[in-house]
Amino acid sequence: MREDKPHCKLFIIPIDTPTLLADGKQIPWEEGMQQFSAIIQAASGAIAYLGKPASGSEGDFVDEWLQAAGGGQRFKFNLLTQKSQAEANKIAFDHADVPEYAFEKAGVVFNFSTDFLENWGNPVENARRFTDMHVYKNGRKNKFIHISPQVSLTGAKADRWIVINPGTEGLVALAIASVIQKKNGTYKFLKKYLQAYSPEKVAEATGVSAEILSELAIDAMEHGPLLALGGGNVSATDQSVETLVAVNILNAVSGALNKTILFSDQTAPESSTHQDLTQLISDLNAGKIKLLIVDDSNPVYALPPSMGFLQAMKKAFVVSLASQKSETTHAANLVLPALTAYESWGDAFPRNGVRSIQQPVMSTVNMFDARAREDILLSVAQNVNKKAFSGNSSYLDYLQNIWQKIQRKVGDRRNFDSFWISVLENGGIFEKPKFIQASLNRRVASVKLNDPGMAGSDGLTLLPTTSLLLGDGSGANKPWLQEVPDPMSQIVWDSWMEINPDTAQKLGINDRAIVEVSTPYGSVQATAYYHFGIHRNAIAIPMGQGHQHSGDVADGFGINVMELLPDQMDKAGSLVFVGAKAKLKLINEKSYTVNTDGNARQLGRDISAATTVEELKHPEKHSAGHNRPVEFYPDRSETAGYYKPYRWGMTIDLDRCNGCSACVVACYAENNLPVVGKVRTAIGREMSWIRLERYIEGYGDDFETRFSPMLCQQCGNAGCETVCPVYATYHNPEGLNAMVYNRCVGTRYCSNNCAYKVRRFNWFDYEFPAPLDQQLNTTITTREVGVMEKCTFCVQRIKDAKSDAKNLGRDLEDGEVVTACQQTCPTKAITFGNLMDPESKVAKNALRDNTEKRDRQYEVLAELNYKPAITYLKKVNTREVVGHDSDSHGSHEQEQDHS
Ligand code: SF4
Repeated sequence: MREDKPHCKLFIIPIDTPTLLADGKQIPWEEGMQQFSAIIQAASGAIAYLGKPASGSEGDFVDEWLQAAGGGQRFKFNLLTQKSQAEANKIAFDHADVPEYAFEKAGVVFNFSTDFLENWGNPVENARRFTDMHVYKNGRKNKFIHISPQVSLTGAKADRWIVINPGTEGLVALAIASVIQKKNGTYKFLKKYLQAYSPEKVAEATGVSAEILSELAIDAMEHGPLLALGGGNVSATDQSVETLVAVNILNAVSGALNKTILFSDQTAPESSTHQDLTQLISDLNAGKIKLLIVDDSNPVYALPPSMGFLQAMKKAFVVSLASQKSETTHAANLVLPALTAYESWGDAFPRNGVRSIQQPVMSTVNMFDARAREDILLSVAQNVNKKAFSGNSSYLDYLQNIWQKIQRKVGDRRNFDSFWISVLENGGIFEKPKFIQASLNRRVASVKLNDPGMAGSDGLTLLPTTSLLLGDGSGANKPWLQEVPDPMSQIVWDSWMEINPDTAQKLGINDRAIVEVSTPYGSVQATAYYHFGIHRNAIAIPMGQGHQHSGDVADGFGINVMELLPDQMDKAGSLVFVGAKAKLKLINEKSYTVNTDGNARQLGRDISAATTVEELKHPEKHSAGHNRPVEFYPDRSETAGYYKPYRWGMTIDLDRCNGCSACVVACYAENNLPVVGKVRTAIGREMSWIRLERYIEGYGDDFETRFSPMLCQQCGNAGCETVCPVYATYHNPEGLNAMVYNRCVGTRYCSNNCAYKVRRFNWFDYEFPAPLDQQLNTTITTREVGVMEKCTFCVQRIKDAKSDAKNLGRDLEDGEVVTACQQTCPTKAITFGNLMDPESKVAKNALRDNTEKRDRQYEVLAELNYKPAITYLKKVNTREVVGHDSDSHGSHEQEQDHS
C-alpha cells in the first residue's frame, strides 16, 4: 500500500515517449512505422484490433483498415458495457438497444441498483433529467426509491432505500409487477407467470417483506408514470439479462413503456462483450493471431487476471496506440504515442437524431511527438498497400468524405465548405429524434429467474462498484480525480472496503482496520470503511485503483478489485461482476487511508439543512430563528447602501445538488489549484477552494445522506478581514472578500478566524511542470509559498464580463457572469449574480430581505452574523428527516461519530 511518499509538486502524467519498444528503448517514428509495417506484412491477415466500441465513422474506418492490411478481426472493449441491457430489451421489446429514459415525465423512479448519477448510461444527461423530475416544485416532489443491496452516490439521493439481498433485483421487480398486474390486468399472458412471483412468494428470497413490496406497487400506481431502471455493476450477476427482463416487465405492466422509456428507430450502437474477449484470448493462445493492436484501451488492468489476458497477449506481437502509460502499454512490444481526443478529429452518432463532430480543441502538445491514432493507421496501411484509402492523406480527409455523404443524406444543398463550417460551428447536425411504439413480447413469460451463482460457499457477497471519479480505472492517472474526495466516503488517493457496521462488529473489524479480502480467485488487502448503506451480508469495493504501470499519479494507490473476480459471463456474454463471496481476515497493520470529512455528523449545526414537503406546507411550524442582528460593524446588508451597483451573491439549492463534485473539479481547472497528494491531504493541506461536505443523519438502514458544497461565503461582516494585520484580505465594494496576494505575509490569522474553514495556505511553491503549465488559466495567477488563497467567485470572469459590457456601452445583464462551478453543475444547483438587482435570478432565489416568503432559504451559521453572500436552499425530503427537530437546532443529541 503506497502511503509514505510526500508530494509537494503537482503531478505530471508521464507520456513522454516518442516511440518506444517494450524494453524501454526509444526509437524514431520512421523506425517505429517501419516495424509496424513489417509486422503487418508478416502477420498475413492474422491480425486482431482491440479498441473501444465506435459510434461514429471510426468503426468503418478500422474495418476498412483491416481489409487493407490483409485481413483480421476487430474486437471491441468496454468494461462497463450495456450489452446485457440491450439483450434484455431484445427479448422484451424486440429492440437490441438502450432506450432514452425520460426521467422528467416520471412521477416515481424505482432504481434497481444502477448508478445512473455516476457511471451508468450518460450520467450528465441523467443528472439533469432526474433533477427536473425529483426537485421540489409547486409544493410537491416526485419520489425516487433505491432498491439495492448498496447505497451509492445515486442511492444517496433517494427518498427511500429498500435493502434487498444481493442479486434479487429481478425478483423484487416481478413482485411489484405482479401486484400491479393483479390490479390492472393489462397483460393477460403474464397472469400465471407473475403469480409465481407474488410478494408473499419472494419476500424471503429478497429480504423484503410482502407488505413493503405491495407498498411499492401502490406507490408506482398512485404516483406514476413509473420509470424503473436496471443494470450496472451491483446487479451484474449471471442472471443479469433475466433481471433486466424483469425490470422491463415492470415498466410495461405499470404503463411506463413509450412514456418514460422511449425507443428510437436507430440501429443499435456498437457494444462489446466479454464473450468476444474470451474468443480473442483463445485465438491468441491457439497462435491464430500474430499481431494484436490495442487502441486506447487497458485490458491488462481492467480484466480479471483469472481470464489470462496478459499471458495470452504475450503470444502475439503487440502494438499499442496510446496517449498514456498503462499496464497494457507496459506489456506491449511497440508503443506508438497517440494524440488525445482533445487534439484529434472524430465524430460520433450516439443516438437517433444526433450526428456530432469532434474537432481538436487544443493544438498538439509540442513536447510529445504524438500522432493521431487514425493517421498512424492510415499511413501504415498505405505503406503496406498502395491502394489503401486512396485519395485520403489523413483521417480528416476520410472524415470529410463521410460527411459529404451525410450532407447528401440530410438534403443540404450548400457547397461542402459552407456545410462543413456550419457543422463545426454547431458541433454537428441535430434532428428531432424519432421514437417508435414498442410493445412487450410474449416470450418474456418464459424467462425464469434463478438464484445467482456465487463462487465461494460462505462469506460475504462481493459487490465491485464503479468509481464516480475514476470510472473503470481510466481516471486514475488524472491528479484532479485522485485528489477530489469520493463524495460518499470522502477518501482520497485510495481504495476501501465498505462494510456494514453491524457485520464488522460481529467480525471484530474496526472502522479503518486493514482486512484481507479473499475470494476463490485472489486476495487483496483493503481498509474497512463503515457504511450503513450496505447489506449486512455483502461488502463493496470500488473499481479504479491498484495500478502498477500507469504512471506516477496512478501507481501504488489502493487495490484492483478485478483481481477478486471470476472469468464468468451472463447470457448476453457480459462480464459477471457479482459472482463471488469473499472471506475477511483482520490484518494487524495500520491503515494510511486518508479521508477529508473530519466528522460525518452535523452536531446539531444544520450546516446542510433539510426540510420536508409536509413542513413546507405548514410554514408556521418552523421559524428561521437563527439570525441575531447585533451589529458591531457598519451595516453591510444589501439594503444599507454600502454596495453599488453590485453585491455578488450565490444560491446553492441542496435539493438539486447530488454531490457529484463536478463543481470541485471545475474550480481546480479554472483557478489553477495545485494538487498536493495523499500525504499532504492527510495533514489538512489540500488546496481545493470548494469542499463537498457529506453528512449522515440517522443510523442503521434508516439513514440519510446530505451534500453541501462549501466555499468562501464572501461575508459582509467577514471574520477573515478584521484579523489580517496587513489588509491583504479586504472587503471590496462589490461584496467580495478580495485577496491581495502580494500583501499577504502568511500569518494565517484569517484562516483561523474563518468559521467556514475555506481558506487555503500555500505551504510550498507548487510546480506545474511542462506540459501542465500549458493548461493553466492565463486570466488568473498561480500563488506562491506563504500566501493564503481561496474562492473569489471567479473574479476574473466578473472582470471580463464587466469589461465586455463596457466595450459594448451597456450594463452587465443578469446571467452574464457564470462562475466555473455554476457552469459545470449538471443539475443547475448553483445560481450566481447581483443581489442588488431585485430582478436577478439570484436575488429572487435568495429572498434575502423577504423573511415572509423565505421557506427553504438559509445562510450557514447565520447566528454568527458574518452575513454570508451565499444562501443555501434546504434539501426537501418526502419523509420526516431522521433526527431532525426543527425546534432544537444546536442540540447535541446527534453528537456521535459516524461509526
Ligand atoms: Fe455536483 Fe457541485 Fe452541482 Fe452539487 S453543486 S450537483 S456537487 S456540480
